[in-house]
Amino acid sequence: MTELSEKHVEQSPDFVRMSLAAAMTLGFKRGIFYRNARLHCINLLLTYPEGCVGKCAYCGLSGARSGEYGSKSFIRVQWPTYAIEEIIERISTRRDRVKRICISMITRRQAVEDTKEICRRLRSSVDVPVSLLICPTLLERRDLLDFREAGADKIGVAIDLATPELFDRFRGGGVKGPHEWKRYWRCLSDCLGVFGQGNAGAHFMVGMGETEREMCRAIQRVKDMGGETHLFSFYPEGNSRMADHPLPPMDTYRRVQLARYLIDQGTGRADRFSFDPLGTIEDFGIRPEELDGIIDRGEPFRTSGCVGRDGEVACNRPFGNSPPGPDIRNFPFPPTSEDVARIRAQMLGCEGGCDGGRD
Ligand code: SF4
Repeated sequence: MTELSEKHVEQSPDFVRMSLAAAMTLGFKRGIFYRNARLHCINLLLTYPEGCVGKCAYCGLSGARSGEYGSKSFIRVQWPTYAIEEIIERISTRRDRVKRICISMITRRQAVEDTKEICRRLRSSVDVPVSLLICPTLLERRDLLDFREAGADKIGVAIDLATPELFDRFRGGGVKGPHEWKRYWRCLSDCLGVFGQGNAGAHFMVGMGETEREMCRAIQRVKDMGGETHLFSFYPEGNSRMADHPLPPMDTYRRVQLARYLIDQGTGRADRFSFDPLGTIEDFGIRPEELDGIIDRGEPFRTSGCVGRDGEVACNRPFGNSPPGPDIRNFPFPPTSEDVARIRAQMLGCEGGCDGGRD
């Protein structure tokens, strides 16, 4: 095993960083997931000593955050660096566990060609589908065609923010960063054209100052374009510009999770939801009995992510946006009936006990 020390950091395309959870899945790191969750996606991140030129206020990898790129945490955990050949070897001997690989770009010019190269190497070595989480700021449509040619089958675009104002404040001019709202949406549209409906989608993060109505509209926009949404709950990265920013309230996150599920499944539409004057969801616009059944099944509260060939979510990012424990936000496994009871209380904002309770 070659985990490289900070001093000897090498760079992509021969080396990549890997999420701690993926490193556990491949046996590079020891550990047990809370409640025996299993991860079936190997999440990889391109690596360069110079890091990312993005300055996104909430991101651990931001060029504006102090520290060397190779040792910066991302989504709260370390991402150790490994040689790509070693990763391929590990995946080959764990084919029962690995159902998808995801390569995340960072904003750095050479990441474009390196993403293609790594994708080609993986696809020619192991028979596992590959997703790409891309950086629209660097890409032209011909790059998307190259990604497809290199063997990728799904694309994620991390728009992250629900409105143009918030996007600009946290990723664009507000932080002197390079990203543009319109370019991200145009790229998502191009991805859907190149990879096909259902094979590209957006990431959004709840808790950045948007209203629930604004988030629902953004999710509906993606759905109407032919994509789907992977949802995250903001969690502050230590030592980042937003280290003191609060988590979104649990009841907000639960309602948006349910809204995301209804929209992506085609069971509901944002324009049929009703909202109070502050933009909080009051009604999901479907029959109460139907909604009850959907909540009881617990599916809306599971992690939304790319699926494996079996159609099940492979990229379930165990505890990716909340620490392991009873307050997990995205369930990396099916919630139990006790979990659903707790979720219901959380949705009503009365987990400690409310008069009247459910319904
Ligand atoms: S471009 Fe991506 S990796 Fe770079 S700071 Fe922004 S969110 Fe983080």
